[in-house]
Amino acid sequence: MPNRGVAYFSAEFGLDESLPIYSGGLGILAGDHIKAAADLNIPLTGVGIFYKRGYFQQHISESGWQQQLYPEVDLAASIYPVQLVKDTEERPIIIAVEIAGRQVYASAWRVELGSVTLYLLSTDVEANSDADRHLTDTLYPSNQDVRISQEMILGIGGVKLLAALGIQPDVWHMNEGHSAFLAFERIRMLSAEGVPFETALEAAKANAVFTTHTPVPAGHDVFSIEMIDRYIGHYYWQMGASRERVLSLGELEGAFNMTRLAVRTSSKVNGVSKLHGEVTRELFHRWMPHIPIQDIPVDSVTNGVHAGTWLAEGIKQLYDTHLASGWAVRTQETQVWDAVRDIPADELWEMHQRAKSEMVRALGLNLPSLGEAPLVIGFARRFATYKRALLIFSDLERLARILGDPQRPVCLVFAGKAHPADEPGKDMIRRIVELSREERFKGRVHIVENYTMNKAKKLVQGVDVWLNTPVKPMEASGTSGQKAAMNGVLNCSVLDGWWVEGYNRRNGWAIDGVTNGDPGCQAQQDSETLYRLLEEEIIPLYYQRDEREIPAEWVDMMKESICSLTPVYNTHRMVSDYWHQVYAPAAARGSRFAADNFEIASRVSAYKQFIRANWPSVQVRSVEILGEHSGRIGLNKSTFRAEIALGTIWHKDVHVEAVGSDGRLGIWKAKLEPVQQLAAGTYVYEGVMADVPIDIREANVNVRVTPISPDFANEFEMELAVWG
Ligand SMILES: *Cc1c(COP(=O)(O)O)cnc(C)c1O
Repeated sequence: MPNRGVAYFSAEFGLDESLPIYSGGLGILAGDHIKAAADLNIPLTGVGIFYKRGYFQQHISESGWQQQLYPEVDLAASIYPVQLVKDTEERPIIIAVEIAGRQVYASAWRVELGSVTLYLLSTDVEANSDADRHLTDTLYPSNQDVRISQEMILGIGGVKLLAALGIQPDVWHMNEGHSAFLAFERIRMLSAEGVPFETALEAAKANAVFTTHTPVPAGHDVFSIEMIDRYIGHYYWQMGASRERVLSLGELEGAFNMTRLAVRTSSKVNGVSKLHGEVTRELFHRWMPHIPIQDIPVDSVTNGVHAGTWLAEGIKQLYDTHLASGWAVRTQETQVWDAVRDIPADELWEMHQRAKSEMVRALGLNLPSLGEAPLVIGFARRFATYKRALLIFSDLERLARILGDPQRPVCLVFAGKAHPADEPGKDMIRRIVELSREERFKGRVHIVENYTMNKAKKLVQGVDVWLNTPVKPMEASGTSGQKAAMNGVLNCSVLDGWWVEGYNRRNGWAIDGVTNGDPGCQAQQDSETLYRLLEEEIIPLYYQRDEREIPAEWVDMMKESICSLTPVYNTHRMVSDYWHQVYAPAAARGSRFAADNFEIASRVSAYKQFIRANWPSVQVRSVEILGEHSGRIGLNKSTFRAEIALGTIWHKDVHVEAVGSDGRLGIWKAKLEPVQQLAAGTYVYEGVMADVPIDIREANVNVRVTPISPDFANEFEMELAVWG
């Protein structure tokens, strides 16, 4: 078990509005992660960057165009005290990172949250040149030179800072690939102690874990090889390796890919929802085409949100009254939430109405007053094109009819920032502003400026329906819908990300349906589904009131949503999952690899080098199917015999199996054992594959040889396989 703690590296942390060093979901997740770790008393140290100007403040001009303002972060206003990190003699701790041949210095700021300390690095120190002082001004700069510098500060500087503070984590968690250079510094430090490169790599890898968040290749950070040479070339010899060997850790399609680096330098990789795990396996399969998608070693830990942060005050009070005591730290217990079913409908409805009024007040929304508060649908997230903010506007006439019904009015509230370089994203904002001014949408379509954590809170607490219409499967998880759910707000979402797991047919609505993959066709179908859900299900249910003017069935659905979703999609469950599935095994692995002067790390590295050098002579010479017996109806049983040349590799160092696949869905495996040695290094292997559906013919079965070792983190650690 990790006892010296987890180092959690992330380029952004969304703790509170008053510390605006986050841009969106990734940062909020990181903030919620460390808050939950603090609640659960888990020893964890966060490492990030203190952006002097944070993420931009959004102003939307008269013409609907987004402007970006970059005021300096006001530390005095932060609700979390942020302190400069000093040594015992009260001198600020300054670390140095060599970037493109010059020394860049960084100070560190500390934020304390119980058992968790977050350190934030800043290059705004006197020793730096003017230009370098500005390196950590803003998040996700478009300039590649600034970006690689920030990533070096985060990854390399972060490791140096922890060393300077005497913190020796037993797990290193990379939240997204931005911090992957941390492996370089860890290896360099070991190399300076005389540990050879390959051993140091194994040791560093053993207790490093990586969470990927981006389902599309274009979303991954990539630098040209020339940039890597220029910025970080001085590390090659300091790591004790050749340029080619270091570059090979991140090389992909002629460039240097930070995700690839993170995968190659960690022993465990996970996606952020089950579906995202699958999508990531598919993506990585392109890098390792000889390993079937199902075998790509990527797991998933589905995201959650921090209840203490996202619940409305009134709803918290309601839970205090009706749920078991300590519910706030027992968020992952299903039974705790079952009590929500017994909350009187009028009380839950009343608290929701209060949150709704509070939202209207706080955001200054000018909703039509028609006696009854209108049904309010919220859509707030980054304006990235894949999130399709404009999907609901696909058919303007139909939408106008839906929103404009005087008996059953409906309002849409939008909010979100577009990345400053994302022109199509900014254009979506402009279009919504334009539509909100059309006569037919006046008072019905609203857009709220400058989406931040506080506005997010008001929205996820106060709207009636939380709408999410991404292009499937581009939403790796999504978390705003989880915030909405715990507040009794109902989700209406494309069946993507976490919603694939969360949706149970009774706790919200799903926009589902596959098309031929044509984006226009998909949008057409998804918008049609959305309109139909609004017209036939959502609006009628909302306006169907009982004698107390309460939409009883709607409230039942709110309860179902809270009970079924909250115990699962919260960060306490998520951090526990990380603890058991990721941190504990990595910590154990790390200490094993480091013990006795890196004995195991050294053995594994020697073994891998031997295997790599001799792998080219491994060959599946022939495959024979000995007998095919039809067993139970529809099932097959086949015996395989393969002749395999292993050269100088020992037969116990490989795993031989017959692998049958029906394409995407299923994969059948049978282990083959050596039964005969034909000549030195040439063996006959045999095995039986049972219970294979008849339609998986031998044409779909191949014999595969992979190198194995009890010290590997998974079967495909070397990414090697020979097929025949
Ligand atoms: C939760 C949150 C997000 C992430 O929302 P998604 O639904 O995951 O896109 C982005 N920005 C803010 C301010 C948030 O609070």
